[in-house]
Amino acid sequence: METMQGTIAHVLIVEDEAKLAMAIRDYLNATGFTTQWVADGRDVISAIKASVFDLVLLDLMLPGRNGLDICRELRSFSDVPLIMLTARIEEIDRLLGLEIGADDYICKPFSIRELVARAKAILRRSRTPAKPSSILQVDETTYQAIYYSTPVPLTSIEFRLLKTLSDFPGRVFSRDGLLDRLHADHRIVTDRTVDTHIKNLRRKLQQVAPDMDPIRSIYGVGYKLEIDG
Ligand code: CA
Repeated sequence: METMQGTIAHVLIVEDEAKLAMAIRDYLNATGFTTQWVADGRDVISAIKASVFDLVLLDLMLPGRNGLDICRELRSFSDVPLIMLTARIEEIDRLLGLEIGADDYICKPFSIRELVARAKAILRRSRTPAKPSSILQVDETTYQAIYYSTPVPLTSIEFRLLKTLSDFPGRVFSRDGLLDRLHADHRIVTDRTVDTHIKNLRRKLQQVAPDMDPIRSIYGVGYKLEIDG
């Protein structure tokens, strides 16, 4: 059994389908997590304020209050890692466009094994001390990116894209989400040209480290950066 670096993670399960919630709870408990279950959307914020959670699994469609509202309020006071559970893949597209601040999304029906694997990946990331990456440094004061100790010449748009992705390693950004984070004078960039800039950025990084591809394309959704170290 994998332990979370010696500490037990406490997970809030927000899910109104009792059968599914119990299945998730049993699996998490058997894997060494502790859990709390909330079924009503109105009880989520108070539960989170009353306890310390390492991870929140949040169903989108809930009685009382929807997951979208909950997520927005939650992000106004907490950075707790969050996986959104949605019923349809199209909803994931919509949610990504809204940039509500979830760390990952999983579409129902999902395998609980898959959910737990993703939960562990997020917990590993969030528990890695916030030390600067030794592989990639993106310095906003000098507008320079250093990758494997090698300066990478980037256009300002490529720099902004890399900076955004590297500020939230592992978080999936939609093309619109990336566009929003470019400076106002880059409004000329469209979501199609985001792909082109990403392609150029990827090529430049691969000139430094040909065997690595830290920018992951999520088909139909967007991009995320994955760097170890
Ligand atoms: Ca539901």
